[in-house]
Amino acid sequence: MFDLTGKVAIVTGGSRGIGRATAITLASRGARVLVGFVSGEEAAKEVASVIETAGGHAEPARFDVADGEGAARAVGEHAKRLGQLDILVANAGISIDALLPRLKTEDFDRILDVNLKGAVACAKGAIRSMMRAKRGRIIFVSSVVGEMGNAGQTAYAASKGGLLAAAKSLAREYASRNVTVNAVTPGFVETDMTGALTAEQKEAMLGVVPLARAGTPEDIAAGIAFLASDEAGYITGQTLRINGGMYM
Ligand code: NAP
Repeated sequence: MFDLTGKVAIVTGGSRGIGRATAITLASRGARVLVGFVSGEEAAKEVASVIETAGGHAEPARFDVADGEGAARAVGEHAKRLGQLDILVANAGISIDALLPRLKTEDFDRILDVNLKGAVACAKGAIRSMMRAKRGRIIFVSSVVGEMGNAGQTAYAASKGGLLAAAKSLAREYASRNVTVNAVTPGFVETDMTGALTAEQKEAMLGVVPLARAGTPEDIAAGIAFLASDEAGYITGQTLRINGGMYM
């Protein structure tokens, strides 16, 4: 079940957090994984080396998802070089929080460039190879905030909600080519991204999680690996909520 032997995967933002766990999980199921990063070269190399030491196959792959056309080209070139691209996990993301009066236009633009336009650009880079192969899995890493909103995160929530709409549109566009496009919406997960929250903020978050714990990157990776598998072949345009019950 959920075997990924012989598949090639790109995980953007694979150097840290949820992406790191996803790269390791996909590789443990047999996929060759490109570990995407933009600045964390050492971290990406470490992830690749963890995978190789465990007997898997991985390599770091540097490209800035915010460079739309450049990112699409990079993904397309990797697919061409490796002869296939079966799985794209568009996970790279950033958050810059601010209440509306303090929300800077450049920060809003930056969030959309990385989280929304970056993910769609990577999908654009992947789609040609997937269409030709008549198979593929695209998984967008959105957020519970994209579904329920959050004060102080208007820009971030808009980027993540946009991803859900993009996934549904692409799911319709490429279903005839046997390419599925889905999203996961993690709840509160302990990573560098949430590391800046105060103890008080974390406690407040956990207070609304019925399972009463933070998610781990591995919790999210498990859902992504399922959506990437052959067994998930009849699931497209869907959102898999992995949030401990925070939003139902
Ligand atoms: P993280 O630990 O901060 O890691 C972010 C990753 O994204 C890093 O690997 C980083 O690469 C990469 N990245 C950032 N900007 C990039 C760019 N312009 N081009 C390419 N790569 C870029 O974040 P995380 O918490 O694991 O989050 C991963 C995804 O899950 C994000 O999309 C986030 O919005 C989403 N999410 C997280 C949570 C949570 O509670 N943590 C909840 C819901 C959704 P470098 O190492 O090179 O900087």
